[in-house]
Amino acid sequence: MDCLLFLKGRKFFPRIEYFPMIPFVDLQAQYRKIEASVRRRMDAVLTHGQFIMGPEVAELEKELGRYVGVEHAISCSSGTDALVMALMALGIGSGDCVFVPVMTFIATSEAVERVGARPCFVDVDPRTFNLDPSDLERRIRDAKNDPKFGRPAAVMVVNLFGLCADFDAIDGIAKKYGLEVIEDAAQSFGAIHRGRKSGALAKISCTSFFPAKPLGGYGDGGAIFTPDGAIADTLRSMRVHGQGRERYEHVRLGFTARLDTLQAAILLSKMEIFEDEILARGRVARNYSRTLGDLPKPPVTPAIPEHQRSAWAQYSITFADRAARDAARKGLEANGIPNVVYYPIPLHRQPVYAGLGYAAGDFPNAVRMSETILSLPMHPYLDESVARLAADSIRESLKNV
Ligand SMILES: *Cc1c(COP(=O)(O)O)cnc(C)c1O
Repeated sequence: MDCLLFLKGRKFFPRIEYFPMIPFVDLQAQYRKIEASVRRRMDAVLTHGQFIMGPEVAELEKELGRYVGVEHAISCSSGTDALVMALMALGIGSGDCVFVPVMTFIATSEAVERVGARPCFVDVDPRTFNLDPSDLERRIRDAKNDPKFGRPAAVMVVNLFGLCADFDAIDGIAKKYGLEVIEDAAQSFGAIHRGRKSGALAKISCTSFFPAKPLGGYGDGGAIFTPDGAIADTLRSMRVHGQGRERYEHVRLGFTARLDTLQAAILLSKMEIFEDEILARGRVARNYSRTLGDLPKPPVTPAIPEHQRSAWAQYSITFADRAARDAARKGLEANGIPNVVYYPIPLHRQPVYAGLGYAAGDFPNAVRMSETILSLPMHPYLDESVARLAADSIRESLKNV
């Protein structure tokens, strides 16, 4: 989710002066659309001066809840803090094991360890890149038979690249084994699964407003969604030092995990155009798939199940093997098209998890994904010509592999 990639990319393109840079995520184009609204709202905050929990925070929470269709939306300091608080609100901690897809941003498993629980990795489906339900069931059985994992307590369902995971199957398995389900919607705000918005697919759902996410602020931020009033009260207390009914009365261990009023104001401006942006992302994705599909050796383009709408946080394709992917990367870079590998190292091979005792080949789909995947520039303001340029670059670079 590196929105500054276009700056880092400069070293590859010494003739940068002659080409307009293609950004991976174009926040400048978006700002040109919302500038007047952002300035007006920020000005209002600077004038009223309620920088912590000002009126824009409540207004944003109402708007987020309306958009997602969930009664309680609790804004907070980041997507990671949202996940940590969600786990704590469900009482998950030491001695518990939480299932996490092995292909996700590290924040998902980091949150599990923050509350003292153990992450238990699950392989991904090679077509959707999301948690594979059959592997989940296998890993739950393994965990039940081996005390080192602890008590199977919950599953963190990540909607990678903006596409919701197979909640039908996962909910069934969670019910069968008595697991809580937490939705990590950091990449999928705006997605739809069987008529329900992402953020409404579990008892607790968490999202992120990191600038490069589908709904991004101008800094860190996040939100938690729940239909459960008691959980919502717990979360509201947790984000302000475990505050009780009275100020300076503290009833639980908490955090400094509020969303700034200024960020809430900015996000309100972004919400005005958010649905249009999601539709625009869908058009960009369809254009990519059409253009890339015409290649003589087409890469595999994203498969979106019938009953779903992706939020298109990323447009990711896979190649026949690592050599083809790396050749395509070189070709794209030579033509000034930024691209990113999400993620080059699956979680079970991260140095920080060496102590969990997994073997390199334990998650074959994730390993293969890390070797063959590539994400192309994706944002609502991407020009159609970029897909053509990307396809031409890939065609040329695959000629020799
Ligand atoms: C970005 C991200 C997070 C963390 O969000 P922050 O706001 O950066 O803390 C968690 N999970 C996933 C899948 C993410 O992509």
